[in-house]
Amino acid sequence: MKKHNFSAGPSILPKSVIEQSSKSIEELDSIGLSLIEISHRSKEFISIMNEAQSLVLKLLKLDSKIYKVLFLQGGASMQFLMSAINLLDKRAGFINTGSWSQKAINEARLFGEVIEIASSKDKNYNYIPKNFKITKKIDYLHLTTNNTIFGTQFKTFPKFDFPLIADMSSDIFSRNIDYSKFDLFYAGAQKNMGPAGTTLVVIKDDILGKVNRKIPSMLDYKIHIDKESMFNTPPVFAVYTSLLTLRWIESNGGIVGIEKQNNKKAEMIYNEIDRNNAFEGFTKEEDRSIMNATFNLKDGLNEEKFNKLCEENGISGLKGHRSVGGYRASIYNALPFESIEVLIDVMKKFEKISL
Ligand SMILES: *Cc1c(COP(=O)(O)O)cnc(C)c1O
Repeated sequence: MKKHNFSAGPSILPKSVIEQSSKSIEELDSIGLSLIEISHRSKEFISIMNEAQSLVLKLLKLDSKIYKVLFLQGGASMQFLMSAINLLDKRAGFINTGSWSQKAINEARLFGEVIEIASSKDKNYNYIPKNFKITKKIDYLHLTTNNTIFGTQFKTFPKFDFPLIADMSSDIFSRNIDYSKFDLFYAGAQKNMGPAGTTLVVIKDDILGKVNRKIPSMLDYKIHIDKESMFNTPPVFAVYTSLLTLRWIESNGGIVGIEKQNNKKAEMIYNEIDRNNAFEGFTKEEDRSIMNATFNLKDGLNEEKFNKLCEENGISGLKGHRSVGGYRASIYNALPFESIEVLIDVMKKFEKISL
C-alpha cells in the first residue's frame, strides 16, 4: 500500500515527477544516456538548467532582467551564512519565529551585528510577531516566511526601506504572494520542489558588492551569477527533478491554481482540528501555516492509540518536531486530497473511541 505521506521534509513529490525522474536515471529523454552520466556542460543539461531558471521566474512573476536564479548546494543552512557573508556589512535585522530563524541569526553573528527586531519566543513561537518597529539603520531584514516546525506563516509582508531577505524553504511555490517585495530569497528543494541536494536562490544582483570583506568563491553570489549557476558541477539530479516539479506546478494552474488547492486542504484539516474534541491546534489561528498544521492531543488522551490508528491507515510522517511535540501534518503541494480525507477520518474515529 502506498502510504499517506505527511512528512515535513524531505517530503512528498508528485507521482508523475517521481516516475519521470526515475526514468531519467536509466535514460534521459531517449538520448541513449543517463541523466547522471552526462556532462553538466552538455547541451541537454544546459537546457535543463535554463528551463528550470526561467520557469522559476515565470511562476513567481519576476523579471529576468532584475532577478537571477541559482541552484546551489549546502541546503538552506548554507544560505544562513552565505546571505550574511555577502550582504552583512555592519548590522542586520532579524525576525525570530523559531529554530530556523535562530539558526540564521547565529550564522549572521559571525559576520556583523545582529539585532532581533521581533521574536515570538515568549510563547514557544506559536505566533507571528506583528507591528514591530525598525529604529536603527540595517543592511537588510531577514525573516522565515513559514516556520516548518511550529506551523506559523507570515500572511503579509510590509514594504521596508531595507533589502528584504527570506528563507522560504517550506512554502515557496505554495501561494501567490508578491515575490518582488523580496531582494533575496532561498529554499532548500526538499520541502516543496524536489529531492534534497539543491537550494534555490533568487536574487536581485544590485544588492551585491556592498561589503568589503573577501568572499571565498564558492560562497560568492556574484561568481555563481556570472557563471549562470555552473561555477562548479551543479547537483544535476536535484535540478532536473525540481524542473519536473516546476512543470507540474505550471500544468496545475501555476501558483494561483496550486494556492487554491492548498487553501482548501488547509481549511479541511484546520476545521477538523477545531471541531474535534480530542485535539487542539498549536498555533494562533490567524498565523496558521497552509503547509504545516501543528496540533496536540487533549490532556489525558492515549497517544499510542492514535499512533496505532494512523499506522493502520497508512498515515506516515505525522509526528511533531521534537521541540514542539504532538503532531504535524505537512500538507505540501503534492499531497492529494485523499490523504487529507484519510487523516480526518482517523481523527474522527479516534475521537469516537476516546471520548
Ligand atoms: C528545512 C528547513 C531548513 C533547513 O534546510 P536544509 O536544506 O536542511 O539546510 C531551513 N529553513 C526552513 C524554514 C526549513 O523548513
